[in-house]
Amino acid sequence: MDFLTIESTHTSGFYSKHPLVITRGSGAILWDDQNREYLDCMGGHGVTNLGHCHPDIIQAVTEQLNRLITLPETYYNDVRAMLLEKIAHLVPGMDRIFFCNSGTESIEAAIKFARLSTGRSGIIASMRGFHGRTLGALSATWNKTYRQPFEPLVPGFDHVPYNNFEALANIISDHTAAVILEIIQGEGGVHLADPEYLIEVQNLCQKNGTLIIIDEVQTGYGRTGKFFAFQHYELQPDLVCIAKSMAGGIPMGGVLIGRNVTNISTGLHGSTFGGNPLACAAALRTIDVIRRDRLEKQAEEKGTYLINELRRIDSLLIREVRGLGLIIGIELKQKVSPYLQEMSNLGLLALPAGMTVIRLLPPLVITYEQLDEVVKIIRQVLTTNDEIK
Ligand code: PLP
Repeated sequence: MDFLTIESTHTSGFYSKHPLVITRGSGAILWDDQNREYLDCMGGHGVTNLGHCHPDIIQAVTEQLNRLITLPETYYNDVRAMLLEKIAHLVPGMDRIFFCNSGTESIEAAIKFARLSTGRSGIIASMRGFHGRTLGALSATWNKTYRQPFEPLVPGFDHVPYNNFEALANIISDHTAAVILEIIQGEGGVHLADPEYLIEVQNLCQKNGTLIIIDEVQTGYGRTGKFFAFQHYELQPDLVCIAKSMAGGIPMGGVLIGRNVTNISTGLHGSTFGGNPLACAAALRTIDVIRRDRLEKQAEEKGTYLINELRRIDSLLIREVRGLGLIIGIELKQKVSPYLQEMSNLGLLALPAGMTVIRLLPPLVITYEQLDEVVKIIRQVLTTNDEIK
């Protein structure tokens, strides 16, 4: 069967697709329908922290499939209760959790909770930030290409330059419900927040009665070397958005809710699939695996290794290599798309972040041998033909 043609014929048309039919995965490897092997540094756009088809996740999901797949949060459930308790212990002071099914839904929820809690409507987001594509989250997202066709968006959103405290201080007011921030702007080009900026923003928000929403959708669950990226700094967010890797590849999202968030009352928000036992079973086991296998530590060590190896590549094309743990950006002096294509031809899948950054989000379980192969392919692609076009 020609799956490529069938998909191309009937897909929505919203995705720019790579001409590969991927049919299997294990750890950091994907296989296509011709049985060709690819090293996966695209990582399901940041979902596969545990790698593909992790045996613990298969076991947890299989067991749960035979017990109970779905149950709305209007009824109590054993697995959900255990997951709530486990997540409640991840961050001191954040012991209530809302469950949903994706990153954008977690952002929607956090925006609503911030408005509910403060009675204010203003949200300050960052230029280059990405928070999702439903209308509320899209209003916080910066990229005009995603926003403009759908305007008017939700009112009350402003964008300020990332890492520019003055700009934020000039715009914050007693109408500002929340500031929403990524600790590392992933889609925006793998840009890291300045530690002083984060602390200054936190102090200002506290003075102003404004809540801080941290978007950990891409950076959470060990990716940066800590369970959450904000834990590298002395931060106490009010709302933390999670999704992508939280259930080992099964769709799930959530919001960790801090003590300053008030006025949450029955019936004001919800989700039919949110907190379903199947996703909860996978999410529960995901945290256990991260802890047991010390995946944060692995991300830190492997990330340091990979960044150092990439920095040793002597190519005129490279402007900068940056990152934290296993979220890594290689900024080029020109557009990355032809290089990503060449990497794919050589068996390495990676992502763009904007026009000029190659983004690597490998599974945290990737081996050192596989990392060496990643570097080898990138070196080959960026040095064979490194004249600036
Ligand atoms: N927030 C961040 C930082 C993201 O990277 C993404 C997705 O890439 C989202 C939110 C939206 O998540 P989803 O695609 O699950 O809706």
